[in-house]
Amino acid sequence: VAPLDLLTQLIRTNTTNPPGGEEPAAELLRSRLDDAGLKTELYKSPGGRTSLVARIEGPTDRPALVLLSHTDVVGVEPDHWTHDPFGAETDGGFLWGRGTLDMKGIAVMHTEAAAAVAASGVTPQREVIVVSVADEEARGVEGARWLLAEHLNALGFGDGRPPPEVLGEGSFGLSGILDVPIMPIALGEKVGLWVEARAEGTPGHGSVPPPRQAALNLTRFLAEIAGYGPPRLHPVMKEQFKGLAAAAKRGPAQAFRVLSSGAAPVAIKALAPALRARGAIGALVSDTISLTVIESGYKHNVIPGEAKASLDCRLLPDTDPDLFLSRLQRRARRHSVTLKAQEATESPVSEKGPLWSALAEASLTVVPNSVIVPTLSPGMTDTRYFRAAGATGYGWVPLVLTPELVGTIHGHNERIHIDDFERAVAAMTDVVLRSVHVSAR
Ligand SMILES: [Zn+2]
Repeated sequence: VAPLDLLTQLIRTNTTNPPGGEEPAAELLRSRLDDAGLKTELYKSPGGRTSLVARIEGPTDRPALVLLSHTDVVGVEPDHWTHDPFGAETDGGFLWGRGTLDMKGIAVMHTEAAAAVAASGVTPQREVIVVSVADEEARGVEGARWLLAEHLNALGFGDGRPPPEVLGEGSFGLSGILDVPIMPIALGEKVGLWVEARAEGTPGHGSVPPPRQAALNLTRFLAEIAGYGPPRLHPVMKEQFKGLAAAAKRGPAQAFRVLSSGAAPVAIKALAPALRARGAIGALVSDTISLTVIESGYKHNVIPGEAKASLDCRLLPDTDPDLFLSRLQRRARRHSVTLKAQEATESPVSEKGPLWSALAEASLTVVPNSVIVPTLSPGMTDTRYFRAAGATGYGWVPLVLTPELVGTIHGHNERIHIDDFERAVAAMTDVVLRSVHVSAR
């Protein structure tokens, strides 16, 4: 099967999570990897969700290379799509469909790269493991998290073994920000902290407003805290700005130079609004609080006695979640709001290792004049579970996207440019071959 045909079949296999139903997608990848000669195995979680692990054995005194993807996708609002989201139509040079970018297209890149290692006939200098899991879009509870808890040794970990290097999602190449494309490599991601806020008040008739009202208290609190926290620079972002400053000729160059200088801690406060206008980068210099669900009331003339809201907090990796939460608690108390928090995700930041160098070289091959910078991912990926287990994890995809295409991820009209996809398959294959045969440095 050609890579594009495999991707087409995967897109037509609807794996919207919930419920997921990833097994047929895992089977498609498995069949390709079986044919290529890999040892493949499907793992089923207690909730019946299927993840694929495929390997090419190699020396275990070196870190295994884990190629990590997920087969589930988020849902669609089909009325907003110009093409069938599960039709995998080709039009205007693109393959259209949910999952083309996040992340079935990348799963195919990994699969083809591993197949090429097997086809080369040379024993790799390290183990290569393709891991394509279920349930990433619902926090990996039935996928990566479960797999690591139950089958750690199948994933490149083990007694006396150096922990694996993991290549997953978390950043794309970006055009339209500088006059040259940016190829970011993610070393870590923001920490997720989910909080429920609840207010109680006096219920009553809409004609006689009581002094203590649940919905009013809650919304006053929400208005105070939602949005961006005080801007500050994580070391990874400071290094990113330094790289961007060196590459930018005009326009934002000056701003990036200031942000990588000694004046950065002060300058970031003035420059943060401009960064927010550029999308995700603005979310990488602050802790953020998004208001995602709000519930209160049921009738136009009844004042509700209770109001609830869900807060999606995303913290920089060096923010102390307990301290963040206790500050939030203090502000909540002032409005008679109580908070209940889930445990914050664990999200260590990886160092630049040998695989970093291989990715940087490969980035220049696929996008010759690009600037390579470290970054953090604003969203959560399954790589965090591997990092937390001790692995080095990078987010890297050899595709350059316009801001418009970035917006289609979890949005409408998700699609992948077919020529770019073919080039990315070649680039992924190249980087994997080099990191298992030649270098494995
Ligand atoms: Zn994803």
